[in-house]
Amino acid sequence: MRNDIIKATEEIVSCSDNGQHPLVYISLKTGSGQCQYCSQKFVRISKPETTEKVAA
Ligand SMILES: [Zn+2]
Repeated sequence: MRNDIIKATEEIVSCSDNGQHPLVYISLKTGSGQCQYCSQKFVRISKPETTEKVAA
């Protein structure tokens, strides 16, 4: 069992634990979620902002 929390930028993540259990999708709309099969935890992080300045 892993203790690592997977960080994702998507609202929905999928987990199959490398094929160890059926593929499931976990919603991270509340900010975090957990796989019901392997208890893998996921957290949603904001996308890295690109602060590139656009020369108009
Ligand atoms: Zn899983």
